[in-house]
Amino acid sequence: MSHACPSCNKLLSSGRIQPPHHLISRITNSELFKCDDCQAYLLRENGDWEMLEPTGTTYAGEQRNESRLLAQLS
Ligand SMILES: [Zn+2]
Repeated sequence: MSHACPSCNKLLSSGRIQPPHHLISRITNSELFKCDDCQAYLLRENGDWEMLEPTGTTYAGEQRNESRLLAQLS
């Protein structure tokens, strides 16, 4: 979470989408947003937010999650 920009921190704490966030895809029960400020992906699943950190700063495990997610979208 340490890489989150102020807008992402606000989203994660308030649950409300901020101006830099735009919806890029919707899967069953999930919505994927991207932050224009810090390039992070934000996943909303069953009302809970999860941040997928920007490429280059992801841990290996999270990167696999992101790849799997993006594979689902294509
Ligand atoms: Zn951000």
